[in-house]
Amino acid sequence: MIIRKSSREIDIMRKAGQIVAQTHAVLAEKIEAGITTQEIDQIAEEFIRAQGAKPAFKGYQGFPSTVCIAINEQVVHGIPSSRHLETGDIIGLDIGAVVDGYYGDAARTLPVGQVSEKAERLLTVTEESLFKGIEKVKVGNRISDISNAVQQHAEQAGYSVVRRFVGHGIGRNMHEDPQIPNFGSPGRGPRLKAGMVLAIEPMINAGGYEVETLDDNWTVVTCDGELSAHFEHTVAVTDSGFRILTKA
Ligand code: MG
Repeated sequence: MIIRKSSREIDIMRKAGQIVAQTHAVLAEKIEAGITTQEIDQIAEEFIRAQGAKPAFKGYQGFPSTVCIAINEQVVHGIPSSRHLETGDIIGLDIGAVVDGYYGDAARTLPVGQVSEKAERLLTVTEESLFKGIEKVKVGNRISDISNAVQQHAEQAGYSVVRRFVGHGIGRNMHEDPQIPNFGSPGRGPRLKAGMVLAIEPMINAGGYEVETLDDNWTVVTCDGELSAHFEHTVAVTDSGFRILTKA
């Protein structure tokens, strides 16, 4: 069941989304070779709590940390650790915050210092894919119009789209209906209506789309060891189009 939100609820979700955006901005300043992913996580948690919000992921299905961190061939859901970032890494940061019971969720993948041209291009195309999807958020369109726009853009660039994990509705729960795949034919799935709030989140691989979960039961990696990138925004469907709740 898709739960539509009132404009009052969307305003609260915007507050949560804004804190997520601010947390991303704080972390972007800290990302450099040498810092550990645990240090990054601690900065994020302190910042979110200082805003009077709660980290959404900490304790979610037992996840131990505030930020899901995915480096290089890691796709999503990596656990912060004593690992040090190195120049040339790409680091995916997925952050959620809760304000008055409502969730905001956004991810981005950043370069650590100078990265390869190949890595740079993957980041650019993945972020572009997210916005191609967001541009389809319009009353009367269908969910798979978003999916198809993401897939077309990523595949035209020679990349593949992760199948195993998908975007989602969001509200009083982090994961609500509908699911939002990043692939598929257009014109299918539920029609978009004002008040729906969607977390759109392409996970794009430089190689094949197959992924597997490591023995820690969280970290998802590409099967072929190639790079992966992840960008996400929480987006409300409005009468006139869309509103990105997690932008700065
Ligand atoms: Mg999400």
